[in-house]
Amino acid sequence: PLPADIFPGRRNSAGVDLADPLVREALLADLAGMRERQWAAAPTVIAEGGEPCPVTSPQDRSDIVGDVIDATPADCALMVGRGRAAQAAWDQSGGAARARLLDRAADLFEAHRSEILSLCQREAGKTLSDAVLELREAVDFLRYYAAEARSQFAAPTLLPGPTGEQNWLRLHGRGVFVTISPWNFPLAIFIGPAAAALAAGNSVIAKPAEQTPLIAALAVRLCHEAGLPNDVLQLAPGDGRTGAALTSDARIAGVAFTGSTETALAINRSLAAHNGPIATLIAETGGQNALIVDSSALPEQVTRDVVAGAFQSAGQRCSALRVLYLQDDVADAMLAMIRGAFDALVIGDPAELASDVGPVIDAEAQTALNDHVAAMRAAGRRVWQRDLPASLAADASFVAPAIIEIQSITDLAQENFGPVLHVARFPAEGLAQVIEDINSVGYGLTLGLHSRIDAHHRLVEGRARVGNLYINRNQIGAVVGSQPFGGEGLSGTGPKAGGPHYVARFATERVTCVDT
Ligand code: GLU
Repeated sequence: PLPADIFPGRRNSAGVDLADPLVREALLADLAGMRERQWAAAPTVIAEGGEPCPVTSPQDRSDIVGDVIDATPADCALMVGRGRAAQAAWDQSGGAARARLLDRAADLFEAHRSEILSLCQREAGKTLSDAVLELREAVDFLRYYAAEARSQFAAPTLLPGPTGEQNWLRLHGRGVFVTISPWNFPLAIFIGPAAAALAAGNSVIAKPAEQTPLIAALAVRLCHEAGLPNDVLQLAPGDGRTGAALTSDARIAGVAFTGSTETALAINRSLAAHNGPIATLIAETGGQNALIVDSSALPEQVTRDVVAGAFQSAGQRCSALRVLYLQDDVADAMLAMIRGAFDALVIGDPAELASDVGPVIDAEAQTALNDHVAAMRAAGRRVWQRDLPASLAADASFVAPAIIEIQSITDLAQENFGPVLHVARFPAEGLAQVIEDINSVGYGLTLGLHSRIDAHHRLVEGRARVGNLYINRNQIGAVVGSQPFGGEGLSGTGPKAGGPHYVARFATERVTCVDT
């Protein structure tokens, strides 16, 4: 029998069936009606009040989606104080009460799906299918962490008392948690860490990515509507300065960060400098993710999974495939098929249902990716690159998808966060060396293996230092409760999002011993 979910009766969200024409057409009509809508984001509490700045769409910078007021250091300091004052009552409200509110927030996210999907498209440049997956994941995180609150935080765990005493252990919130989230999952990874921190009894100050404050503001509004107190979940929009103001405040209990390894290390240094309680850091960072394909792999499956892994979400997932290793005796045949599928990818405005690859998030990302492809060309690498269609808006941040031949993963200086796939070849006897090379880079997020050879499965599973290994499947789209997600080494601290150990890391343990 299949193993059951650790929470009996829990189910992941059904999402939206885009294959059903009635559902799809109704949704598309809703989204069309929201194309002009204006949104706003502001700090939950304002001490001094900044100027609103426009937020524009990556696929068309003339589309103003709304405006944002960033949180200043004074706003941040005020929010930390309010969060601290509100935390004890929130913690004491108990796991079951907190779970009810998180579940209610999940229901409201589903009820407001058109607004959420519209913002995922306009503010973050997501295709509709990616937006649907994002909403599902956000809802799944809320309900999964609600289930954790109910199971681990509602009642103490009784422990043996060998000398006749009574012992029990309770989990409590640590205090104020700051969550700093990325633009590539502006809803799911905005709300996931916040929901976990809340489930554990912390108050939260949530700083969304500077590129995607509007969807975060909608998420916070829905959580408040669900009944989460304003001071328990506060929004602090802004860039790195807002993040630095929050992480340098010695009154905070911890930070849950998703983003670059470099920023995670900077946050770690900032927390280490606190002259106060020792703060916790939970970081989920980048990857240099590979997929190894041996000669026993099925070419159609490999093609499907390479295209999804490297180009879905325009390659903007930290799980995305960056380096494809092909066994040399099948490499040419595999590459021909992969190129066929690559040539058929539809690059276009995410509002078009047919689009497979949308824009990258901003001009800075676009320039970095284009520079990388140009440097690879200049170094004499073989490059296949698509042309961008003429129909795209002039000031959009699209990057033409590319496939680049390299010798080894060690040729790459950094993670290239976009629709760029590198391909290397390895000899039949070279599998162990490939794994060693991948390990040597120091990241450890996702790894794919396409193989029908059990010994290869065992070799890779036994030696690869990665958080998520996918065999004969693409390596993106980890499912809450089934593939808890997160890496090791340069890829993060763990514990894994959507897994059984995540919420507990946001908590502190207290033991009571009562003797007679
Ligand atoms: N959990 C996502 C996945 O499995 C990736 C998260 C990220 O990009 O940060 O694709």
